[in-house]
Amino acid sequence: MAGAGQGRAEGSKASGLDADQLSQFSRLLLLADFDEVDLLSLCQKRVLLVGLGGLGAPVALYMAQAGLQAMRLIDPDTVSLSNLPRQVLFSPDDLGRYKAEVVAQKLRQLAPRLQVEEHTERATSANLSPWVAGADLVLDCTDQFSVRQEINRTCIHLGKPLISASALQWSGQLLVVDPNQPEAGCYACLFDPANPPKEAACGAYGVFSTAVGTMGLLQANEALKILLGKKPSAGALRVFDAKEPRLETLRFSARLGCPVCQNRPPVR
Ligand SMILES: [Zn+2]
Repeated sequence: MAGAGQGRAEGSKASGLDADQLSQFSRLLLLADFDEVDLLSLCQKRVLLVGLGGLGAPVALYMAQAGLQAMRLIDPDTVSLSNLPRQVLFSPDDLGRYKAEVVAQKLRQLAPRLQVEEHTERATSANLSPWVAGADLVLDCTDQFSVRQEINRTCIHLGKPLISASALQWSGQLLVVDPNQPEAGCYACLFDPANPPKEAACGAYGVFSTAVGTMGLLQANEALKILLGKKPSAGALRVFDAKEPRLETLRFSARLGCPVCQNRPPVR
């Protein structure tokens, strides 16, 4: 079969894409849903990825290979042996190294055009604002309630779409927050910041490796559709059960009195 880019060796004057991009993403362009203008838009997008564990690994891989312009990676942790079964970007040679540095190095090999910037600091209210402001979309792949709330709050304040997911044992949850759909609510509408749950990290309760990997793939799935111009599918909590397997959709809307999206303070 001839390469799909043949006949378009000069690239596309209409969209501004070069011949390599047209060839590399030819299978995407064969879909009726996207055209060269959508792809060019994707190639100019910048994303923020917070958390490089079992969710972040598939997210990083698929987002890096999607043709994005830039990705900023945040994770303060180092690689440990118990990470390897589900954090599939890491090998035994990486033990003890900063996850952000290992992932950045691998993404630069996989996607030489992608601008990668890594940070080995913990995400806080102080540093999240400039990182979120510099992104077109945010992927929350962390495992701490307080950090999730801070990411949600910052995304709402700065008007950035957020894809949040979590996984524990055999199940996972996925939520898309779109500040341009205020009626659809946010993470804090579902999970009240004033009532934090007992932290249920996978270190204490366990997690099935492909359950968390599936949630990461679903995050990348939602992120890529949004970056290609589709309307974010906000206002729904997707609940995955890896044992059946089964994906349920629980609809919700903005919670009256939500301290984040229903009572927005001025943009910082
Ligand atoms: Zn809310």
